[in-house]
Amino acid sequence: MDVYGLIGNPVGHSLSPPMHEAGYEALGIDARYVTFEPDPDDAVRAVEGAAALGVAGLNVTIPFKRDVLAAVDPDPLAERIGAVNTVVFPDPDEDGGEGGTPRGYNTDAAGVTRSFERHGVSLDGSDAVVVGAGGAGRAAAFALSDAGASVHVANRTTERATDLAAEVPGATGGGLAGLDERVPAADVLVNATSVGMEENATPVPADLLHADLAVLDAVYTPTETRLLREAAAAGATTIEGAWMLLFQGVEAFERWTGEDAPVEEMNAALRERLE
Ligand code: NAP
Repeated sequence: MDVYGLIGNPVGHSLSPPMHEAGYEALGIDARYVTFEPDPDDAVRAVEGAAALGVAGLNVTIPFKRDVLAAVDPDPLAERIGAVNTVVFPDPDEDGGEGGTPRGYNTDAAGVTRSFERHGVSLDGSDAVVVGAGGAGRAAAFALSDAGASVHVANRTTERATDLAAEVPGATGGGLAGLDERVPAADVLVNATSVGMEENATPVPADLLHADLAVLDAVYTPTETRLLREAAAAGATTIEGAWMLLFQGVEAFERWTGEDAPVEEMNAALRERLE
């Protein structure tokens, strides 16, 4: 039996175990997915320990996504984003039991692009606004840019937005006041702030939203945030954060198993816990 896992602190309410285990069951893979809560300073030791124990793959969440970089060989996208959420351990049968350096990926980026793809939204040539410049904002900005979008990053702390924009090809950055001008002209909007989580608040004023916009809210509790309600009322295409959560997991599943993930079964397991 293979063991996959998640390191984070806290990880008590993670939805990843039922989502991944639904995938193993659907494909007849003999595996379990368990959560680990190491001390916040122990990112590198946790990855080394998992490798020594023969863990087949690890997801990584707050507060470890950046520190884990020191324990892995990151792929170029994870390196640019500056965060790893998926670790793939070398197959001991293939490297002669040598235990080479684990590979680090950032599947939050694919979580963003695959969510738009699933909803029939074309990113290539689009004008995209990313609100937020933390971990999710960085993943979204690089993902959208790589998919061919022109990206504007807006953030409460303006300097974080301009710093991120300087790293993303062709991107611009500024404060939240810039949303007034950017959102009415945009095709794509991603909320990558925590605004709207467990609260009836929105990072984007409703009167800026319009019918030609596709809106992804990274926040997934509640599933329908105030931003998404107001976007739907304006006639926009709306994409719940649950899709991003699903597709980051789907992408990790595929990297670990080499199989196409059973997306519908994983989605059903996730939705059962979210509704
Ligand atoms: P983070 O690194 O802590 O970044 C938080 C971001 O939110 C920063 O840009 C911050 O702005 C902004 N922010 C916080 N409070 C704000 C407020 N009151 N007004 C305006 N901006 C505010 O967090 P993260 O990891 O990027 O996560 C952000 C959200 O995305 C969370 O809700 C998380 O659950 C969600 N997320 C979802 C997925 C998914 O798969 N659906 C994946 C990753 C994250 P400053 O820079 O000014 O502080």
